[in-house]
This record gives sequence, structure tokens and C-alpha cells, in this order.
Amino acid sequence: MVKVYYDDEVSMDILKDKTVAVIGYGNQGEAQAKNMRDSGVHVILGLRPSGSSWKRAEKDGFEVYTIEEAVKRADIVHILIPDLVQPKVYREHIEPYLREGQALGFSHGFNIHYKQIVPPEYVDVIMVAPKSPGKRVREKYLEGFGVPALVAVYQDYTGNAKDLALAMAKAIGCTRAGVIETTFKDETESDLIGEQLVLVGGLIELIKKGFEVLVELGYPPELAYFEACNEAKLIMDLIYERGFTGMLKAVSDTAKYGGLTVGPKVIDDHVKENMKKFAERVRSGEFAKEWISKADKASEVLEELMKPIEEHEIEKVGRFIRKMSGLER
Ligand code: NDP
Ligand code: MG
Repeated sequence: MVKVYYDDEVSMDILKDKTVAVIGYGNQGEAQAKNMRDSGVHVILGLRPSGSSWKRAEKDGFEVYTIEEAVKRADIVHILIPDLVQPKVYREHIEPYLREGQALGFSHGFNIHYKQIVPPEYVDVIMVAPKSPGKRVREKYLEGFGVPALVAVYQDYTGNAKDLALAMAKAIGCTRAGVIETTFKDETESDLIGEQLVLVGGLIELIKKGFEVLVELGYPPELAYFEACNEAKLIMDLIYERGFTGMLKAVSDTAKYGGLTVGPKVIDDHVKENMKKFAERVRSGEFAKEWISKADKASEVLEELMKPIEEHEIEKVGRFIRKMSGLER
């Protein structure tokens, strides 16, 4: 089993008299900055003057500086801007101002693991990665709890890197739920493999192909949408709350029998072999190389890839069903 850290074994003392500069005030930046501030940490923001985050962070009562200035004032530089823009911002606005003994923080290991950011040897390099979108990171904290997180140390110059990562995780509220120690490599690779094989890639294709089969067999798309997509949420909620066994106990015996006998034949070993092949592309760095090579035109590339999804029949029916269900106006 992995090591899990909870509130009572972690101290925030190491953050006393330290300044954390959060770079970026988006999804994670806003939530993590607010939580750390509410936990008594001195948090400042490092942002670009031209962006919209600057005004928002100021309105929320933070001291806001240019990224350079924030790095100069900080003990910990916590980088929470989109992964693809981090290398350039790091090279231009962070690296030249780094001092001995500072720490660089991340919430995802991509740029460190794939060497898009190569920090000097005289800083600590740590990860605190809440396993939730920022909104939930903040909500759970305000409820007096937190979301689970991963922490990792890539480089321990001061000898305190792990204590620092754990202290930040505690300040964000994560030790209330539980914090798992991992490595930059494991976090990065498992994150990419999970989103490609299952979460974003696998799920969309499973639902889409199930929908297509139903429609091609002549069933009304509205029905197909309910059966292949809408109900997937209900099943997933059950799995999330009760596990596979709990979900199986909650569905009908017919669903149980049909699902358990047919499922492994549809998602068969051939699919698993495909999964392994693409997991290997993540592990070898081939996927990262491909994605990084598109960094300059990422939005065009993504727009092109999303077009066939946006135009798919499932999206048209989906809008109708969501309106019917009061989810969309
Ligand atoms: P966001 O897309 O929400 O980041 C937006 C912020 O980045 C804004 O403050 C924006 O400022 C700033 N920014 C964007 N481009 C630039 C630039 N070129 N120069 C300076 N600032 C810029 O990012 P996330 O919060 O989603 O992700 C941050 C990190 O957290 C990533 O490493 C990600 O992998 C990780 N993570 C994200 C999770 C999530 O749920 N989203 C979950 C766990 C980890 P401006 O207003 O000026 O444009
Ligand atoms: Mg991911």
C-alpha cells in the first residue's frame, strides 16, 4: 500500500515566515491560493499585467505582482498556469530570478518529468497535486474538509523538500482527506495514461460507439442517448459511491447477468492490448514529444479534433435531452 499522510502527522511550521508566490489564478491557482491564505500562509500572486486574472486576484484581496517580482519576493514559487505555456514563462520570467534555497512547486509533473523545465540544482522541486478541479478544492476546504492530493519530491536541495510539500498540502486542506506520496514520473505517466485510455479517450468512444450501434439498428436517437450516455452518469455515480460490487447490487438481475457475461466480450483482450500499446507511448515519452511539437498551434489542433465530435448526432440529441431534463436552457 502507498503511504498516506493525514492532518495530525503534518506540521505547517515550515511555512511560517515564508512567502508562497502562486503563479496563475485560474482553475487551481485561485483555489489553492485562497485555501493557503485561509490557513494562515503568506500568499502573493505572480501574474501577467495584461491578463484578466490580475484584476480578479486584486479584487479578492491578494497582493499581485508581475511574475518576476513575485519570484523575487517568494520562498516558494508555485507554478499553476497551463502546462503547455509553463516552459516559456519559466524561461523568461522565473528562471532568471531564482535564488539558492527557493522551492519550485507544481500540481502536475509533465514539464519536469519530460524535461521541458530543467531547474537549477540549487532549488527544491516539489509537487502538490489536488485530485480535483479547483472549484471542488475550494468548496471542500470551506466545508472544513479537503480533497485528496498527491505529493512528490523531484529535487531536495534544502533537505526539507518533502516537509514543505506536505505542509503546502495541509494548507490547501488536502491532509484532512489524505495525501499520497508519489513521484513525478508516476503522477505524470498515470495521469496521461488514465485520461487517454479511460477518462477522456476511452469513455467518449465507448459511449459514442454504443450510441451509434443503437441508432444504426434503427432505435430512435433519443432512446439511444438515454441508454448509452445519460444513464452512464447514474451508473458512474453508483460506482463512485459504492464500488463495482455496490453498483451491481443496485441494478436489476437481468442487467447484472447481461453486463457481466457480455461486457468482457465487448471490451476484450484486444482492447486491453490497444491500451497497453498507447500506455507504452506515454512511458517512452513519444506522446509527450508529439504534443509538445504542437504547442505553438495547440488551439487550432484541438479545434480541428473537436469538430467531428461537436457535429456528431449524439451532441444534437444530447442538447435536446438536456433541455428536456432542465440541465440546459
Ligand atoms: P488554468 O488554465 O486555469 O490557468 C489559467 C491561469 O494561467 C490564469 O491565471 C492565466 O492568466 C494564466 N496564464 C495563462 N497563460 C499564461 C501566460 N502565457 N503567461 C502568464 N500567465 C498565463 O490552469 P489550471 O489551473 O487548469 O492548471 C494549472 C496546473 O494545475 C497545471 O499544471 C495542471 O496540470 C494542474 N492541475 C489542474 C487541474 C484542473 O482541474 N484544472 C487538476 C490538477 C492539476 P491570465 O488571466 O493572465 O490569462
Ligand atoms: Mg489528467
